[in-house]
Amino acid sequence: MAIPSPAFHKRIHEGLSNAFLQEALRRATKTAVASRDKAFSILPGAEEVRDRARAIRAHTIANLDRYLELFAREVERRGGKVFWASTAQEACTYVVNLARARGVSLIAKSKSMVSEEVGLNHALEAAGIRVVETDLGEFIIQLAGERPSHITAPAIHKRREDVSELFQKHLGMPPTLEIPVMTATARQALRQIFLDANMGISGVNFGIAETGTLVLVTNEGNGRMVTTLPPIHVALMGIERVVPTWEDTEILLRLIARSASGLPLTAYVSFLTGPRRPEEPDGPEELHVVLVDNGRSRWLGTPMEEALYCIRCGACLNACPVYQAIGGHAYNSVYPGPIGALVTPMLWGEAGIELVYASSLCGACQEICPVRISTPDLLVRWRKDSSHLLPAWERAGLWIYALIARNPRVWELLGRLGTGLLRRLGRDGWMRRGIGPLQAWTSVRDLPLPQRPAFRDWWKSRNGGAR
Ligand code: SF4
Repeated sequence: MAIPSPAFHKRIHEGLSNAFLQEALRRATKTAVASRDKAFSILPGAEEVRDRARAIRAHTIANLDRYLELFAREVERRGGKVFWASTAQEACTYVVNLARARGVSLIAKSKSMVSEEVGLNHALEAAGIRVVETDLGEFIIQLAGERPSHITAPAIHKRREDVSELFQKHLGMPPTLEIPVMTATARQALRQIFLDANMGISGVNFGIAETGTLVLVTNEGNGRMVTTLPPIHVALMGIERVVPTWEDTEILLRLIARSASGLPLTAYVSFLTGPRRPEEPDGPEELHVVLVDNGRSRWLGTPMEEALYCIRCGACLNACPVYQAIGGHAYNSVYPGPIGALVTPMLWGEAGIELVYASSLCGACQEICPVRISTPDLLVRWRKDSSHLLPAWERAGLWIYALIARNPRVWELLGRLGTGLLRRLGRDGWMRRGIGPLQAWTSVRDLPLPQRPAFRDWWKSRNGGAR
């Protein structure tokens, strides 16, 4: 297999040449990063909170077996059922069989990345069961027949004009660009689904081990409808989402919404402990928690386990210059952006390895990550481990580069020759039309020419001639 594949190149170019996508991404990511920065600037002790959150995640992942067993025991003690799914197939089969056994014909679903990961909608629909996404972004994507392009904002690539067209076509909405009219149209369509559904499926943001409580973080209230109105609630949870205590959960809650959208807290934070008790007026009669491994446990005890610290806030996507340029669909994975580049090869193996090259390694993802995942280091590690998959010319180039980089004199000589050549090719401090591989850069932007004095000369003069 050659990496990056021609298909990946094609998707990248499609993203780069889609002016609408560029506009939507620019607007959305710029606003999200600015709001996040503001929210953190007014959070007391923000850096200490991040340190604590990282420590909680590191401790949990290092003791995952213990906390998962405790979590499962507590869910069952309160009347819920737990199913351990080693693979995507096992997770889908369990839910499909359950739906069939209970005669389910309509499912209301709230946002769940892990259900996208295992292909649950597809499995249910293949079994003749209708599934309706009720998160507004997911609803839009489902109507468009697309896949989410962002972890927390699945329709980030859509402009209001696109959504209006979809609603006119599928929901009979009169032409309008008024957002309140569009949301009211969606609300009206979804209300009946909540009432008619005989099963609700949700994801889980955090599973609190000490009480077996499921935590759902949403902004639209659909999560509450899905988990309380239908008689059966199925929650899909990646095994890494467990958190030891309520106290730990409170720390993570302080960060997740701030990182995702700049809000101190989402509009709805739901804590669900067990199915409906006899004295309670509402809630599901049955609760099923599907704990999905799907390749995650393979990475425990390796440096890659750090990727399991992720709380899926999506901030690294918003900050990533590559994601901002190509959008989520170019990654062809449920998990796009920097965290997707890490997690996809963990789940897919070699089939997802090309994504580790979709990074400039600038470090913006690590800087913004609330749990400080060292994404650039882990991507470099992936690249090293997969270098045998690169084309021969690229491997040879890297080998030559390594040889030169280890020899300071040769490095200096070639550096001087290279900067001299670049200066000759440009004018007024800029190169506007490059040659050879530089053309790829100068076709979309100007290249600044090397400055004078060269860093090496400046350093020498500063240190009295010493290197
Ligand atoms: S890697 Fe960090 S920034 Fe990215 S989604 Fe996960 S927690 Fe958020």
